[in-house]
Amino acid sequence: MIPKSHPRYESLMTREKLVEGVKIGVTVLQGLIAHGRGEMFDYVLGEKTHDFAWKAERVAVAMMLLADHPVISVNGNTAVLVPEELVKLSEILNAPLEVNVFHFSKERVRRIAEYLESFGAKVLAGCDAELKGLEHGRRIVDSRGILIADVVLVPLEDGDRCEILKRHGKKVIAIDLNPLSRTARMADVTIVDNVIRAVPNMIKIAEELRDADKNELVEIVNNYDNKTILRRAIEAIRDYLTEKADEISQR
Ligand code: ATP
Ligand code: MG
Repeated sequence: MIPKSHPRYESLMTREKLVEGVKIGVTVLQGLIAHGRGEMFDYVLGEKTHDFAWKAERVAVAMMLLADHPVISVNGNTAVLVPEELVKLSEILNAPLEVNVFHFSKERVRRIAEYLESFGAKVLAGCDAELKGLEHGRRIVDSRGILIADVVLVPLEDGDRCEILKRHGKKVIAIDLNPLSRTARMADVTIVDNVIRAVPNMIKIAEELRDADKNELVEIVNNYDNKTILRRAIEAIRDYLTEKADEISQR
């Protein structure tokens, strides 16, 4: 048991969820390593949602509301970190959840789908189509989902699939704490935030924007420049480190 008073309670509980995810066959061991990289970037971002992330989250929601076939791609980490929130976001945005994993097996996809279904989700996990140009498990998609999607939300994506999704003409929204990753640089919209904050934030924004008129949504999307957002994320890390370094010399 981790006491609530522990200064890193939130972060430790998040790790517990992932460990539990491994035990039930939803998360893979490699997912724990990927989370570690994410945690490191979260640390140097001050573990909060910055204004540039809020902005990207808002644009992401607007894009999904405007899309004909928006899809939310779910892997083993996101499934255990924010299952209820994914179900809720999927409902508000009218965007199905599709299981898509790097370390593929039919059995694992089934487990992730069942896990999400236990939270009331409707899940696409057909694994009946392929994205040409990719060798690994991420190429296997659902013919009713990512294959025909125009906008795909990909929390914790891998760089090469992001590239392939783009080559297939899809708009890609990534949630990735690492603003330097290939995924972050490749996506149309990069949300540099922890999925455990980003998805709940997007629910709030979606509740606000769901009844907005189309022109308003188009304007939100058109005024967006992802390069500026990435630049601000990298500068936020720099500023955070400068602040911490100054604190040390003032002690
Ligand atoms: P790329 O191929 O795009 O350069 P990568 O190889 O650096 O990516 P992967 O291991 O493929 O990264 O995927 C993990 C990514 O997910 C990392 O960039 C990490 O920062 C990010 N990540 C991990 N946990 C979280 C989280 N909870 N919220 C947001 N991002 C996360
Ligand atoms: Mg990668």
